[in-house]
Amino acid sequence: MTTLMVFRNDLRVADNTALWHAQQSGDAVIALFCYTPKQWQAHDLGPNKVAFIHAHVRALSEALAKLGIPLLIRSSKDFTASVKDVLKVARAHHVNDVHVNIQYEWNERERDKALDAALAKHDITLHRHVDHTVVHPSAIQTGSGDYYKVFTPYKRAWITHCIDQEIPQQELKIKKQKPISLKADPIPDRISGYHIQAALDGPLKGWPCGEKAAQKILRDFINQRVKGYKTARDVPALDATSRLSAYLAIGIISPRQCLRAALAANDGRLGGGDVGIDTWVSELIWREFYAHVIFGFPHICKTHAFKRQTDAIAWNDNQSHFDAWRNGVTGIPIVDAGMRQLRQTGWMHNRVRMIVAMFLSKNLFLDWRLGERHFNQHLIDADFASNNGGWQWSASTGTDAAPYFRIFNPYSQSARFDPDGEYIKTYVPELAELDKKYIHEPHKAPDEIFETLNYLRPIVDCKKTRQAAIDAFKSLGKNN
Ligand SMILES: Cc1cc2nc3c(=O)[nH]c(=O)nc-3n(C[C@H](O)[C@H](O)[C@H](O)COP(=O)(O)OP(=O)(O)OC[C@H]3O[C@@H](n4cnc5c(N)ncnc54)[C@H](O)[C@@H]3O)c2cc1C
Repeated sequence: MTTLMVFRNDLRVADNTALWHAQQSGDAVIALFCYTPKQWQAHDLGPNKVAFIHAHVRALSEALAKLGIPLLIRSSKDFTASVKDVLKVARAHHVNDVHVNIQYEWNERERDKALDAALAKHDITLHRHVDHTVVHPSAIQTGSGDYYKVFTPYKRAWITHCIDQEIPQQELKIKKQKPISLKADPIPDRISGYHIQAALDGPLKGWPCGEKAAQKILRDFINQRVKGYKTARDVPALDATSRLSAYLAIGIISPRQCLRAALAANDGRLGGGDVGIDTWVSELIWREFYAHVIFGFPHICKTHAFKRQTDAIAWNDNQSHFDAWRNGVTGIPIVDAGMRQLRQTGWMHNRVRMIVAMFLSKNLFLDWRLGERHFNQHLIDADFASNNGGWQWSASTGTDAAPYFRIFNPYSQSARFDPDGEYIKTYVPELAELDKKYIHEPHKAPDEIFETLNYLRPIVDCKKTRQAAIDAFKSLGKNN
């Protein structure tokens, strides 16, 4: 008998829940990955993330081969086709059990429902496991059985749950199996509809490939930077955060591995202890919270705002403002630096993500979904739940969102978190020689200085647009 493990956003061997369970059957395990490029396009995944996935499918195939597990590859176009392909593989190899790790987004859930039904017709059992988060989103609920809408009580309940259940337990060890006659499939050299070479030659250079690389990033972060994380994490010029998001998004490292490493450095304490570690664990819990939110409120996966009344907002329709924003030419240095960092590296610092997202949704008053889509198309770490959560937080349309009247002033954020303009100068070379005094607001420099810069004046007045956004939200009524 053969057991089938289907990989999706869990492209690693170590501590992989579904793979571990597949091995517990005692049967020979074979593995499958389905490329679904049409689905990825429908989900707005850009070449950076797809190239990152592709590189890791290759690494996964090599890692599995060392364990005697062949990785089969199918080019399935979309989710519907992938269901048929999984069934075909299962039947061709006389599989009784298929193991997957659960994905929480709506289309993924529907796909797995269809897969379950298709397999069941042939007496094949689909086993679903929790892996993308430390706890399943539905495991944490309020006293009245609802999903949480506010982070802090969710976090408290999450910590209590983990302590009660003694999570995270020991790392799940995957064993080498006896050789089988089936050979792994070759990795395709192209992915339909995607040109990934530019991504491989550009942004991906900054992201070492493979599980071992991700483990080293985690180790180095815990050994060298986590203790200073609380204060340094907001300074975009510093390399003070873990940079693990891209690896977590497609499962090159598990959130349990991250949590275990943090707890080991914190005398086993979950909640409290070292302030840097505690703050970092909180960020991991934000990731869990946003997965909880999309699972509990699936209308979010269908382009709706969490606060449905905000779907009535008449956002501006201004293509030239959107183009200025996405190209990093708004005349507001911190915004331009962030948007250019995204284009050049496929990543953006969290503080700057918040600044550019608020600028788009409040000052330009453009629909936050435009920004969400642009991020998805460019971020290597694109993750539907965290991206949507971050955008709806910034646009004041989401769970536990920033109140609509608390709008970041991009100039004061810039002065506070990039005081010397070091981050700005890295990505906006036009301002490299500008005196620190004017770096956050170059348009305030005397004309004779400003004219020497190849830089532009702000495309909007942040004070006036701020007030207009507040008025628009106010007009929606008191539920905001
Ligand atoms: C508008 C906006 C869009 C975002 N889009 C994404 C996205 O597509 N994918 C993504 O992984 N994160 C997203 N984030 C969250 C956050 O910006 C990134 O997770 C973080 O910058 C990644 O850097 P790091 O790995 O060094 O994080 P660290 O600071 O080291 O944090 C550790 C891990 O915790 C998680 N995390 C940290 N902050 C958050 C947060 N605010 N929300 C949810 N999880 C968090 C990430 O998995 C991260 O890798 C977004 C935030 C905003 C404001």
